[in-house]
Amino acid sequence: MFSYRHAFHAGNHADVLKHTVLIATLEYLLEKDAALTVVDTHAGAGLYRLDGDYADTSGEAANGVLRFFAKAKTDVPLADAIERYLAVIRDFNPRGGAKIYPGSPFIVQHLLRDHDKLKLYELHPTDAKTLDANIAQLDAGRQIAVLREDGFLSATKFLPPPSRRALVLMDPSYEIKSDYGRVLDFAGEALKRFATGTYAVWYPIIPRPEAHDLPRRLKTMATKAGKSWLHATLTVKSSKVITEPTGEVKRPGLPASGMFLINPPHTLKAKLAEALPQLVERLAQDRNASFSLDAGG
Ligand code: SAM
Repeated sequence: MFSYRHAFHAGNHADVLKHTVLIATLEYLLEKDAALTVVDTHAGAGLYRLDGDYADTSGEAANGVLRFFAKAKTDVPLADAIERYLAVIRDFNPRGGAKIYPGSPFIVQHLLRDHDKLKLYELHPTDAKTLDANIAQLDAGRQIAVLREDGFLSATKFLPPPSRRALVLMDPSYEIKSDYGRVLDFAGEALKRFATGTYAVWYPIIPRPEAHDLPRRLKTMATKAGKSWLHATLTVKSSKVITEPTGEVKRPGLPASGMFLINPPHTLKAKLAEALPQLVERLAQDRNASFSLDAGG
């Protein structure tokens, strides 16, 4: 069984990028009255404590979302997309700070209207149980379905939804390298079934050929299908592995990640052009911090 648990990583720089893009995309899609279906193929546990045991072990949120809460306020106003992201985090922390971090299921549910639907897939037995319990507290009835199934295997069954409006988030842990290929297969199948859906893929930027190929292959897929796309990346530090004079090998941890969207909102590129430089500035861990933003179709 998998060992990845998102609780160790909740609120890190990759979550900041992913959830900022997710919120900007969702808010655009919610401007229209017609019902929206959101499918989260890899949901995680839904809610995380940033002062809990898991988070303490890794401290990743300290170099992620918590930087926005720890730093003294400057006069420079934050980009709208970052403000919207922080507003959602604040809603989960009415007493101030950021002790509770909402994962994608809770971020989405928080923004959805009563007539929208949310389908959540989580395969890890412990996280699926926690997700179930967290969602049960919302008393959301039939608005939310939690499925303890493989998101890659059956989530296309929800496409197209009756209202023909959907956002699909694909956010695997990439613990096994077949995840890269499975994202591509899933996105290809989903696009065939429902060409006008909005598809968002998060991926890690690590020295692995599959990780570099993924955005390139998604771009080819979108272009061949005649669909628009957007690709945003955020690097916070060098990916160099350092060998100390003692022989100790120091790995840098996740240095960068990306979001690739097919059929993104037409407003997203401008929003991210404003937000990404500020994310670099706030989340940089060394001089290698940077971003990229590209769109086409
Ligand atoms: N989307 C979440 C968020 O933004 O808060 C984080 C998800 S985490 C990166 C990936 C999750 O996918 C893990 O909880 C893992 O247990 C789960 N998982 C792994 N393979 C899966 C599969 N084939 N189907 C559904 N869930 C899976």
